[in-house]
Amino acid sequence: MAEPTSVAIIGAGIFGLSLAVALRDRGKYSSNKGGRDDIGMDGIDIYDYDQNSYDANDDEIQAASVDHNKIFRAYYGKEHHYQRLAMEGRKYWISEDEKRGFSRESSDSEEMRLFVNSGFLRVQPSDHLEELEKETLANMERDGLRDTQFVKSIPEDQQRADRLGWKNKLLDFAIPDSSPPSYYEAVLDSTAGFVRCSNACSHYQKIAASKGVNFHFGPESGGFESLVKEPSTTEPEKSKVTGLKTKNGAIHKADVIVVAAGSFSTQILPELSYHLESSAGSLAMFKIDPSDKELWDKYSPEKFPVISWKATPRDSKGKDTGSIYVLPRTPEGLVKIGYRGLKFTNFIPAPDGTPFTQDGQWSVPLPAKDCHELQERAIYAIRQFVDIFLPDFSKVPFYSTKLCWYTDSLDNSFVIDYVSDYADNTVFVCTGGSGHGAKFLPILGKASQHQYEMLKDIG
Ligand SMILES: Cc1cc2nc3c(=O)[nH]c(=O)nc-3n(C[C@H](O)[C@H](O)[C@H](O)COP(=O)(O)OP(=O)(O)OC[C@H]3O[C@@H](n4cnc5c(N)ncnc54)[C@H](O)[C@@H]3O)c2cc1C
Repeated sequence: MAEPTSVAIIGAGIFGLSLAVALRDRGKYSSNKGGRDDIGMDGIDIYDYDQNSYDANDDEIQAASVDHNKIFRAYYGKEHHYQRLAMEGRKYWISEDEKRGFSRESSDSEEMRLFVNSGFLRVQPSDHLEELEKETLANMERDGLRDTQFVKSIPEDQQRADRLGWKNKLLDFAIPDSSPPSYYEAVLDSTAGFVRCSNACSHYQKIAASKGVNFHFGPESGGFESLVKEPSTTEPEKSKVTGLKTKNGAIHKADVIVVAAGSFSTQILPELSYHLESSAGSLAMFKIDPSDKELWDKYSPEKFPVISWKATPRDSKGKDTGSIYVLPRTPEGLVKIGYRGLKFTNFIPAPDGTPFTQDGQWSVPLPAKDCHELQERAIYAIRQFVDIFLPDFSKVPFYSTKLCWYTDSLDNSFVIDYVSDYADNTVFVCTGGSGHGAKFLPILGKASQHQYEMLKDIG
């Protein structure tokens, strides 16, 4: 394949933005010289039917990347490669904040940071460490990071946490109905925290635009309609893609089309149906009023870590709870709880010709208007979590609730590759965030680009 000179990316979320910036930094794609948007000219164009604001309060926006905050962690059990990628990404988050004037030490402008190193308390299902935790600690040790992890039951870790100013976040939570009374084991990770996801997207969108990436936002000029195909001369049994058509009927030529449409990717490219499935995570928010100084202070990122709890598979009532987490309050006072113990699907008939279906059906995101109500099982799990970990809110109604759509891959790894159904490496995919992509925004594109390069060289 000849060196591509124009790339059209569908989706301006974490994956699309990150790739665009990385490709631009690579320097081979000059800006769209003619400023024309009917044809891609030696440039990188991003199409998105939705966002031009990344407003986390806008309920109509369904991109997983558009959110107040997402967890940053390097805790990955045996998946050492993700641990390393996360720590590499962490350097970029810090340097990006430093470029924006926030030093590591300053806490005065905490609200404007993209990466907040609030710490992350991983509460265990019982009063002892589970296997995944031991694997993580072993891999942290391997990379010389063990000192950044504080295990509650280990006295030296407690002392080190005290010395380094982390002890107030090594919180104790009583195990309900335990006899004799006992407390959950927990590990505090001082490298972790959260990223302000929407703010980060806005920031990277501006970086991309300043580097000459062209954005086409809005349902008509940014909405994907179809791929433009023609027969391939090199692989006659396949089509090659020469561009895309948007909802307004405009044809945009490009050498490579990249599908980075998150949980909507299968609907754009049903060829991905074997690898990806959309499923919903359940989010519930409380809101603290700034006048309530005690709670405002208690749940601030300075005082409160991200907390996750992996409950025992079944509780005393025989119900599944699974994994659940809470983040420190946002500058607006929102305390977000996420339930991922059970993910919810929305199976509807798949279009004819979809290569992989389950009895002719596939799961795709519900329309935005139907994404505000949580399932009873999610509410049960969240309420149970609140009673144990956030008793201040036990009697407080949720401020809001939302289903947010994961793009799950078969093994929860990212899906970054050329799509072999199309000739001449003309279609590339980078998605499959599987509930852990956001933290990699500064590094994902570089990794994807590496994949893109590597595959091109062998392709
Ligand atoms: C509930 C939940 C919790 C999560 N928690 C974490 C976490 O704590 N830490 C973490 O690191 N990650 C987390 N993630 C994962 C992370 O949010 C995702 O991996 C990441 O945001 C996915 O980015 P994306 O670019 O693939 O998709 P998206 O953000 O969904 O972006 C895709 C874009 O494509 C656009 N698009 C779709 N269809 C079309 C079309 N037809 N035409 C034009 N544009 C289109 C959409 O408008 C959207 O802007 C979580 C995800 C969920 C769902």
